Amino acid sequence: VKVLMIAPPLLKRQNDETSIITVPPIGYGGIETVIHSLICGLIAIDCELTLIGVPGSHSNFGLKVIRDVRDAEGIRNWIINHRHEFDIIHDHSCGLIFNKSCNLDSRIPYIATHHKTGSPDYPRNTIFLSDAQWRQSGANDSPIIRIPVILDDYLYSEEKEDYYLYLGRVSGWKGVKEAAQFCQKLSAPLCVAGPSWEKEYFDDIVRHFAGTICYVGEVTGLKKIDLLSKAKGLFVLSRPVPGPWGEIWCEPGSTVVSEAAASGTPVISSTNGCLKEIVVPEIGMQLNEDEIRELDIGKIKSQLSNPSDAFNYASKNWNHITIAGQYLSLYKKIIAGSCL
Ligand code: UDP
Repeated sequence: VKVLMIAPPLLKRQNDETSIITVPPIGYGGIETVIHSLICGLIAIDCELTLIGVPGSHSNFGLKVIRDVRDAEGIRNWIINHRHEFDIIHDHSCGLIFNKSCNLDSRIPYIATHHKTGSPDYPRNTIFLSDAQWRQSGANDSPIIRIPVILDDYLYSEEKEDYYLYLGRVSGWKGVKEAAQFCQKLSAPLCVAGPSWEKEYFDDIVRHFAGTICYVGEVTGLKKIDLLSKAKGLFVLSRPVPGPWGEIWCEPGSTVVSEAAASGTPVISSTNGCLKEIVVPEIGMQLNEDEIRELDIGKIKSQLSNPSDAFNYASKNWNHITIAGQYLSLYKKIIAGSCL
């Protein structure tokens, strides 16, 4: 099957079009990591991939990257001109390229993965990452496909060091402050890795928890996989507060949960959004809102999951080849003329 994958041309630095985040990303980038894992899985099951929207990305066996269009309009026009070269278009741009005012000919096979909170801007054959994300969107019955992970890209370890980890955007809805409060009470260091665009929030927690937080900036490569593999636990305490797109934050899919599992690292999560569904006992533990408010450390001290259980669960349910297979069967349905 010939697939055209659309990635959103998201800038790392405003007004610098050469800073479009690549697939895979170098550092922060949940959507781009998901697209990369999916592309690798689809190539492994004999699909032919073309990627548009992220012109600085590497091409590869089975993958061609389109480099001469960089903005939404250029991407849209390119797709319209080349539509007959593909069996299906798979859109990850969350309404940036096609939306209610710029739609695509309804005869062209099209599928979209929704990566955000709220409802999709172009609701057509939409795949959601979790039941919670789907429910919040208000969409009719739709398929749910979990975030894929390339297990071999992580370092599995059963030997842990004496620190907890937060890995991601340093923002209020991700619950970094709550993770720091727990670690302060546990008298354990919290390594915080990731960029921050919420300066006030960032300065506040770094100042307030100076004795607990060790901020290492945005990480990539070996630094990232080392931090993940050696941490005693990964905190993902996502909060029900307004997120970057306005709606109350409802964790859509959580890439870091699958990365922690691939590293054999237990997850300590809230029950926000997808976390309630994916942080099963093999993966880690969930803290409810009362336990978070009361900073109840009892469970964390006594109940962390087993590294091999986490790895095996991810390997069985989220590995990129399995997830690619789930997408491929939906591609085939759509190509045959069905709607999801
Ligand atoms: N990430 C990274 N380096 C950092 C911080 C984050 O590589 O310093 C990656 C992290 O490993 C994950 C992604 O950025 O792959 C964040 O995706 P997630 O779905 O967890 O969060 P969101 O997209 O909602 O911010």
